[in-house]
Amino acid sequence: MSTASFDLLPSTNPAADAVRDNILAAPGFGQHFTDHMAHVRWTLDAGWHGHEVRPYGPLTLDPAAAVLHYAQEIFEGIKAYRHADGSVWTFRPEKNAERFRRSARRLALPELSDEDFIGSIKALLAQDHAWVPTPQSAADECSLYLRPFMIASEKFLGVRPAREVDYYVIASPAAAYFKGGIEPVSIWLSQHYKRAAPGGTGFAKCGGNYAASLAAQKEASDNGCGQVAFLDAAENKWIEELGGMNLFFVYKDGRIATPRLTDTILEGVTRDSVLTLAKDEGLTPEERPISIDEWREGAASGEITEIFACGTAAVITPVGELVTEEGPIRLAAKSDNEVAKRLRTKLLDLQYGRSEDKYGWLT
Ligand code: PMP
Repeated sequence: MSTASFDLLPSTNPAADAVRDNILAAPGFGQHFTDHMAHVRWTLDAGWHGHEVRPYGPLTLDPAAAVLHYAQEIFEGIKAYRHADGSVWTFRPEKNAERFRRSARRLALPELSDEDFIGSIKALLAQDHAWVPTPQSAADECSLYLRPFMIASEKFLGVRPAREVDYYVIASPAAAYFKGGIEPVSIWLSQHYKRAAPGGTGFAKCGGNYAASLAAQKEASDNGCGQVAFLDAAENKWIEELGGMNLFFVYKDGRIATPRLTDTILEGVTRDSVLTLAKDEGLTPEERPISIDEWREGAASGEITEIFACGTAAVITPVGELVTEEGPIRLAAKSDNEVAKRLRTKLLDLQYGRSEDKYGWLT
């Protein structure tokens, strides 16, 4: 794949080294941004053009821009990791590029090529690589979180696909997502709000899905939970995923199951990687429908020995309990989350270049 060429407009006001170092010492998540952003414009007449890396800063949008009214928007989430030799790597960016195209099709946005998607990330990293934090130990899960996104910027209040669109990549240094690290999280079961419905946008990574999940997320935090689990819209029976992560169930007999992909589930890059790594570990991966009854009964009988959530931001995080209106569902057998920990270490070792990249997942 050749690399798209991005013009550089360097920032005249980049953060001083001392300011950047201060931020990188305790970056938090999603609060600080690097000096530049990548941008490509699309118009119906000219297609994709104007590839550039320019200073990070506020956008000028017309108040009638379609995205502000009809939420014609998609995004991605991917991390850049610094290896011990100082080099900077992304993990399976072609999977994110492919998902971005899938999302674009569903939201009637123009598709961006792999070359432009990966090229924009490379161009931004070439400029802002000093913002990729250096892990201080194998337990230090710092990274540079990359957020590609595409918005309908056309000034027009008619409801139809926009004829002017802008694509950007911004980057934000990140510490571990959950402050508790590998501590199990409590999850709230959303029994009234749905994230997605058949024929809808659940499989796409569009802002609207997250807007629709916020009331459920609030319900979760009001009930002392860090994340929310959604059931299917048709039968209120099948487990789909969390607000921002996919779910896995580990069984006593070595099976490891995750809900099969439908148009209501976001296909996670981490989910796909876990399915591959699990096989390497001698486990038997399964993609199939999993009901809330199976969760309840498997937890009670000891058949299910671990449950974990996975995604780019939080990697792999054990689920401690599922809190429902009828009371909590907990694993009968006390779990040390051995499988989740093992898979997590394998994934992190790959991402941080501490093990051989046998699948060619690093770019
Ligand atoms: N499901 C949802 C709804 C998400 O937002 C995410 C995060 N992108 C995931 C699953 C996990 O996807 P990935 O492993 O690609 O980060």
